[in-house]
Amino acid sequence: MKSSLKLAAGTGGSVVVTHCQVCDSTDLERIVFLGFLPPVNQMRTQGTTPHEQPAYPALLLRCRKCQLVQLGLVVDPAILFPPEYPYSSGTTKILRENFAELYVDSQRVKKLAPTDLVVDVGSNDGTLLSNFTAHRVMGIEPSDMGKLAASRGIPTHIAYFGPVAAAAVRGEHGPAAIVTATNVFAHIENVHEIVSSIVSMLDEKGVFISESHYLLDLVETLQYDTIYHEHLRYYSLHALRYLLGMHGLEIVRVKRIPTHGGSIRVYAARPGTFPVDASVQETLEAERKFGLLGSDAFVAFKKRVTNSKLEIMSLLKGLKEKGKRIVGIGAPSRASTLVNFLAIDDGILDAVLEVPGSYKVGKYMPGTLIPVVDESMLFSAQPDYAMLLSWHIADELIPKLKAKGYKGGFIVPLPTARIVE
Ligand SMILES: [Zn+2]
Repeated sequence: MKSSLKLAAGTGGSVVVTHCQVCDSTDLERIVFLGFLPPVNQMRTQGTTPHEQPAYPALLLRCRKCQLVQLGLVVDPAILFPPEYPYSSGTTKILRENFAELYVDSQRVKKLAPTDLVVDVGSNDGTLLSNFTAHRVMGIEPSDMGKLAASRGIPTHIAYFGPVAAAAVRGEHGPAAIVTATNVFAHIENVHEIVSSIVSMLDEKGVFISESHYLLDLVETLQYDTIYHEHLRYYSLHALRYLLGMHGLEIVRVKRIPTHGGSIRVYAARPGTFPVDASVQETLEAERKFGLLGSDAFVAFKKRVTNSKLEIMSLLKGLKEKGKRIVGIGAPSRASTLVNFLAIDDGILDAVLEVPGSYKVGKYMPGTLIPVVDESMLFSAQPDYAMLLSWHIADELIPKLKAKGYKGGFIVPLPTARIVE
């Protein structure tokens, strides 16, 4: 059977993964189980009485054949991304800087002529392409962000990406010299259709540039909180090489970048088109050395995850015994995994604070009765401790919150639970 996803009975529109989503192998090893997690976007309004709410198993699997790490359940996208789900652009400073650097970096591999076409898949508000406007650009984006991009002068084809959109863009604008796709491989269910559609847009000497959250960073710096059901797959370079190789692409350059707590930028082209940079072998070797090609690194990862849970709870217990008031800072998707995996409730965190204007203010954290409130509470109520749920940007957040007038201490939960006074 060709399809890599097989329906299992009793899971509604969700699909149990019995075959690897990249190579179709059934040789899948269990890495870690984070329990049943509620969908991160299902936040109930404060004051409402809790009623039934779905939760899905977060079981991480590793394919022994192609090395892809993936969740054991593909949750029905209609549940994860309901029509009323507010769309946020997520173009933070670090992302904008990254996309500006991507342009410079890309010119080292393929020098573009003014008439060359650059296509961005999942182009959002056009931030990435705004760096390529000395050439012809075309975004592909299904959400209203595409209209916003167009109004800012970034031409955008408004559609979900797939073979139809790819054919339409190529038909109208010709083949692309560069196709970019950042944070696309983890989320979309049929990854082979995405890659083959991308290849169909590339000209013979074209380059495909992808950026994905990087498995080595995830394991090394214990980012288990980035495991949630919107993220179906977690890529090593070995897994990406396998996936792109299945579609006739060769990886010619790799760069580790800081976005999302550690990502990998991968350049691929038809074999022999470009010299293969040393970064490719170096990165593959680093993965081998770390142990990503066997079980040991993942057995150790599981132990570290368990240990982290006990450490964080022990730290919180010490503070609660002294009667300290603690709030959480930030309610991104990863915060939901951390709070639910640790079973943190409203007896431990008085509230989770979000920036003014966030649609999350006025709701409860998923799966809990912890209220999400406006960040100004931090400065008016001055709780004793602020636990950073976006801990991967702790170095940026701590001085910022201090400068705004917060006088309490900080709890950084990961990779090692610690207090910063
Ligand atoms: Zn596989």
